[in-house]
Amino acid sequence: MGQRLSCGERREGSLLRAVKNGHLEIVESMVRDDPTVLEETGGTARWSPLHMAASSGQIGVLSMLLSRFDNINPDVVNRHKQTPLMMAAMHGEMSCLQKLIEAGANILMFDSVHGRTCLHYAAIYGHSDCLQAILSAAHSSPVANSWGFARFANIRDGSGATPLHLAAGNGRCECVHILLDNTALVCASTGGYRYPGSAPLHLAARGGSLDCVRELLARGANRLQRDASGRIPYMVALKYKHGACAALLNPSAAEPLVWPSSMKFMRELNPEAKELLETALIEANKEREKSILKQSAFVDPLSFPILSDFEADEADSEDEDVEICCICFDQACTIEVRNCGHQMCVNCMLRLCCHKKPNPATFSTVAAPVCPFCRSSITRLVVVKSDAISHSNTEVEASPSRLRRPRKSVNLSEGSSSFKGLTAHIGKIAGSPNQGRTASECNEGDDKP
Ligand SMILES: [Zn+2]
Ligand SMILES: [Zn+2]
Repeated sequence: MGQRLSCGERREGSLLRAVKNGHLEIVESMVRDDPTVLEETGGTARWSPLHMAASSGQIGVLSMLLSRFDNINPDVVNRHKQTPLMMAAMHGEMSCLQKLIEAGANILMFDSVHGRTCLHYAAIYGHSDCLQAILSAAHSSPVANSWGFARFANIRDGSGATPLHLAAGNGRCECVHILLDNTALVCASTGGYRYPGSAPLHLAARGGSLDCVRELLARGANRLQRDASGRIPYMVALKYKHGACAALLNPSAAEPLVWPSSMKFMRELNPEAKELLETALIEANKEREKSILKQSAFVDPLSFPILSDFEADEADSEDEDVEICCICFDQACTIEVRNCGHQMCVNCMLRLCCHKKPNPATFSTVAAPVCPFCRSSITRLVVVKSDAISHSNTEVEASPSRLRRPRKSVNLSEGSSSFKGLTAHIGKIAGSPNQGRTASECNEGDDKP
């Protein structure tokens, strides 16, 4: 390669080969010499140059073709009615995917193999960056107007599977998370896909993905949901011999904390606050899991940090000069309610907003949580900036390890009749009042298959 090809040398497939190998100049000169070459397709699946560029991540060639040649159709389909965008989603070629979307590629095309869209393919293959990019595009593209975003996020393939079903069934936990954040329905049932009437939880149980099971449960998936044959996810996990999944799915095992659905209705949940709350939720649920799995003898020693790591983290956090939460008197204040400014620790906030026992029937009608101190409804949460705290404090005192009284503690009696009652109430929600922990528990490991 490297030389210009004469017309005589141009054989079927030579353009595609040049595209695949990223030989920009060769591709350019071939197309300039004869623009009809762009209509050539190769292989039994009849791939176009755009398919080839998108699937092999040749962003240079792809950009050149899309920008230089007006007649090129970004939605050209192969024999299976698959678009270049689907190829990019399948192969996780993020830059190609973005380029195609910029060039106006349609995110709402269905192939003829399984009736799937690019969103399905990103979910199946676990390319969470592509999945996120497609969902972001759906907000601004005509799809949002014609279909509506939520309908697109829950789009079904030819056998009734939504992207969430496919992500859960293939153990793509990061995709499951993103989809659930983007209005995917946690209890949707498939039409005929796998066992008919399966929910995402059935498919995660079948695939044996503990991370996906954990994520779905924390988002309110129903352990008692039955498929068309009357099976609950627990039975599916047992059938496929996924013992740890079965232990968590066992209806008699303790209920996990569930991400508060009412938070979806908050006008503004600061991304940092959301991350903090999610981390706390995962930690709380892992504590619960630990005992469930220990009882079931399915402990994976790699899933949990050794105790000394845990203690080292706690020792570190004691060095900071922090305000202590005046609900549990155990943790530092990390979350602030706007606009009232009352602060508490992330565990107390979570337990204030979480439902220990989700009821799928009434899930969407849960009342918005209120601030326990002033009873104003919580519409916005922000992370307490530790910098600001230590700054306001440096001139007054130098001792680094003293815990101060909470800033708002003087207002405690303002809106609540009894502070003791409040603590007891929160404790009841929490199950165990002072069990809060801050040490991070290997959350990084969650996304790994
Ligand atoms: Zn607290
Ligand atoms: Zn308040």
